[in-house]
Amino acid sequence: MIALEFQDFSCYYKNKKEYVTALDRISLSVKQGELLVVLGQSGSGKTTLLKCVLGLCDYISGALFIDGVATDDFRLKDSNIGYIRQELNLYPHMTVYDNIAFPLRMIHTPQSEVDRRVKEIAALLEVDWLLTRKPRQLSGGQLQRIAIARALVKNPVTVLFDEPFSNIDPTLRTELRQLVKKIHQAFGCTILFVTHDLTDALSLADRVVILESGKIEAIGTPQELLQKGYLQ
Ligand code: ADP
Ligand code: MG
Repeated sequence: MIALEFQDFSCYYKNKKEYVTALDRISLSVKQGELLVVLGQSGSGKTTLLKCVLGLCDYISGALFIDGVATDDFRLKDSNIGYIRQELNLYPHMTVYDNIAFPLRMIHTPQSEVDRRVKEIAALLEVDWLLTRKPRQLSGGQLQRIAIARALVKNPVTVLFDEPFSNIDPTLRTELRQLVKKIHQAFGCTILFVTHDLTDALSLADRVVILESGKIEAIGTPQELLQKGYLQ
């Protein structure tokens, strides 16, 4: 089964009266359960690609199918996609518990079920001992784990990571990469993992897409791309 399919897909931003092309005629299929790393420099269109999956972009052309459904017919509130933004965006006034519980409360989940899910996901991410703290009392790596827990609490079928490790020191990065692998195995979810870091791509990806100036420059397994002279 195909989880995501971009067909000749473009995305534009409107700057005053001009349109800027952020994604330029992309065709790409992501299999269900695949961990796809999108690799590219700043400004290459990585965040835009994720925003399009979330239906947050206004000016698009071509087609995008999510689980076989064209996005024209698709309502975000009915979808189950986890999104970990570059800026994390945790709620500072809420405890860790309430931050993780938030997406479940938005859909009026009964408190007993909220409690079960929050504790289960917090245990998986090894943050169960932090549940009563506020975000300001956490380290960068801990904040990262909470943001991931919040994105996973609804058991999403697809998870989008936007450069999650960009503000994290190198030793913690290795640890968090292991965590992403663990999540991928535990949930069997489709993952789109956006990064500018080669090591992320080499250590995580089933396949890598290299984006440059909104175009797909290459796509393949890390091994295939290495053989073709990419990823070095
Ligand atoms: P990346 O995440 O790879 O750094 P983005 O997807 O954020 O790249 O941006 C792709 C291109 O679109 C860049 O040239 C950027 O300047 C432009 N862009 C992104 N967001 C906007 C916006 N809201 N308005 C206008 N241009 C934008
Ligand atoms: Mg970005």
